[in-house]
Amino acid sequence: MDADALLEGLNPQQLRAVTATTSPLCILAGAGSGKTRVLTRRIAWRSATGDLDPRHVLALTFTRKSAGELTQRLRSLGLRDSVAAGTFHSVAYAQLRARWADRGITPPTLLDRKVGFVLRLLSGAEKNIPAIDIVSEIEWAKARMIEPEKYAAASIAAGRRPPMDPTEIARIFGRYEDARRDQRLIDFDDILRVCRRDLISDPEFAASQRWRFQHLFVDEFQDVNPLQHALLNAWRGDRLDLCVVGDPNQAIYAWNGADPELLRRFPRDFPTAEVVRLTENYRSTPQILAVANAVLAGSGRGVDLAGSLTATRNDGPIPVVQSYETDSDEAKGIARSVRDHHGPGSRWSGQAVLVRTNAQIPAIEEAFTTAQIPFRVRGAAPLLEQPEIKAALAEMRRSTGPFEDALADLAVSVDSTEAAGDRAEERRANVDALVQLGRDYVSVETGPSMPGFYAWLAATTRADQPDRWGDAVEITTFHAAKGLEWPIVHLGGIEQGLVPIGHAKTGEALSEELRLFYVAITRAERELVCSWAGQRRFGTKTVNRNRSAYLDTVVAASAALRSGTDPAEVGKGVSLSAPPPPAPTRRSKTRPDLPRPAKTDTPAELDEADSKLFLALRSWRSDRAKAASMPAFVICNDRTLTEIAANRPSSTQELLGVHGFGEIKATRFGDEILAIVAQAD
Ligand code: ATP
Ligand code: MG
Repeated sequence: MDADALLEGLNPQQLRAVTATTSPLCILAGAGSGKTRVLTRRIAWRSATGDLDPRHVLALTFTRKSAGELTQRLRSLGLRDSVAAGTFHSVAYAQLRARWADRGITPPTLLDRKVGFVLRLLSGAEKNIPAIDIVSEIEWAKARMIEPEKYAAASIAAGRRPPMDPTEIARIFGRYEDARRDQRLIDFDDILRVCRRDLISDPEFAASQRWRFQHLFVDEFQDVNPLQHALLNAWRGDRLDLCVVGDPNQAIYAWNGADPELLRRFPRDFPTAEVVRLTENYRSTPQILAVANAVLAGSGRGVDLAGSLTATRNDGPIPVVQSYETDSDEAKGIARSVRDHHGPGSRWSGQAVLVRTNAQIPAIEEAFTTAQIPFRVRGAAPLLEQPEIKAALAEMRRSTGPFEDALADLAVSVDSTEAAGDRAEERRANVDALVQLGRDYVSVETGPSMPGFYAWLAATTRADQPDRWGDAVEITTFHAAKGLEWPIVHLGGIEQGLVPIGHAKTGEALSEELRLFYVAITRAERELVCSWAGQRRFGTKTVNRNRSAYLDTVVAASAALRSGTDPAEVGKGVSLSAPPPPAPTRRSKTRPDLPRPAKTDTPAELDEADSKLFLALRSWRSDRAKAASMPAFVICNDRTLTEIAANRPSSTQELLGVHGFGEIKATRFGDEILAIVAQAD
């Protein structure tokens, strides 16, 4: 492909991002704005213009799947020689293996079963703590390059909630590292650490790798952890040929040690770097974008702006919220909805079902199997491969009584286990899902047995999937859907306890949950269907469920779209800066899908004069919203107006001090608001 053809169809900002000769380059933009597209075009363009040799490019991404997609996209852009695209782990491991072979070093063994390894290191009371929770702490520390001696202080400073005293964890962590070294084992994080160490200490190795990879590109940079970042620096050496792409609003791996601050401070780390912002969204309809923006606006904290996104696509249907009585109704309902959306000539692969946890997937798989809809489960380790599930199945196999007794034992063990730590809850949910599958199996089998259960599990869960590449609906988690897109997206189980996840307690964890929901919504191109169930089975218990507070925002934004004048304009120019929550804190008890009548009451904390100003501000807001065809709460919520009425800011500076008022809002609305305040008596 000639160089000019590669620039076709790009907007001016994208054009800048593709052709800028500045290094390093940082592309900071919201979901669906073409970041990944620009990254691949930049590689192809630089290659077409002779600025780089694609054989010396390294493109880093987060999953093997997206690495494959990058390579494919590059090939379709005419790159004959394939660019090296991989994950940090795959590239580091390949380099280390080459080095070991060159130097005649016997490769260390890869330690991939950390839980069993840690279990053997525990003694006395330590054995009461699930080894898996200790492993989570070790992984968290290693991702941030925290040594055992520093663990306790770092854990406290980061507000972690380890399953036991941090100094105890630090001691076990120390024993883990010693035993690992004694046995010449390396774990996954060590691959990155050792690769970096060798690059620093072995100049010959460093020189050969830096010659091999002269031009570095990183997609989804917001999810890089400090260890990966340090390795990237070691790969880079003192060169500046680096292009990173990211969206702080999509940072969803903090729990795993990722640090979006690394993206934010990129311009400070590289004062010569150019930052390009993309502001047009090409993926989603204005309707989906408006809902996504409203959700993001609801976070109030921890969210910063990658630029306000403008919709470019044509109008589409308003997002729909479905409620069901039970989780199994929901699974069937999703299957039905998928079938309804499957028109003649359309492909199943144009639809995806996304859920928050792996444990929700089997019920949906079951419903799809029954409905004979082809599906594929992607991403995180499938349920049956989870260690706790393997352990539970092994336990059931050991039981000599009837199958139902073994199942009942398992159910009781789940119910009586005290949850401790994040992973404990997840584990419990997974075992719950297994118990549920066992019940479903018992209900269809006249003489249930363990071998029969295995066969049934194989048939219902994985083995029944159509061939991996065939036309199928994708079922996966929010996390694994990062960077991907589908015309029609179904989001299931949008309930309190799942979205946000029950163990998210701190402000930071909740912000991350909200960003995760934003990531999920922004996967949709044309249609979005969210659902939740009023009851969900967890093991032996049926639990009443509440709709997620985040869904209130979806409902409110959808209602605003329905009652709005010109939906084509909704979402355009909607600021993502930092507006405070429209919905999460006030769940409406009335039927939420209906537009709410305008309120005429004023906040109790305001005196008469301030109340008058408040009403004036509200009337301005409603005019402004109508004129811009955007939901009023996107401009600012009542709390912000109350604060303005009470504090009466007289300058932009003072206005910026008002909660929920960011720079973008100040630029757009500041003068008007200050004028209204100035006129008030
Ligand atoms: P995410 O943050 O979700 O990873 P992204 O910013 O990487 O999103 P892309 O996946 O690169 O976005 O682009 C989103 C969609 O918009 C893709 O289908 C892409 O092909 C399309 N797209 C991007 N830019 C343009 C453009 N200028 N013209 C037409 N389509 C475009
Ligand atoms: Mg992308």
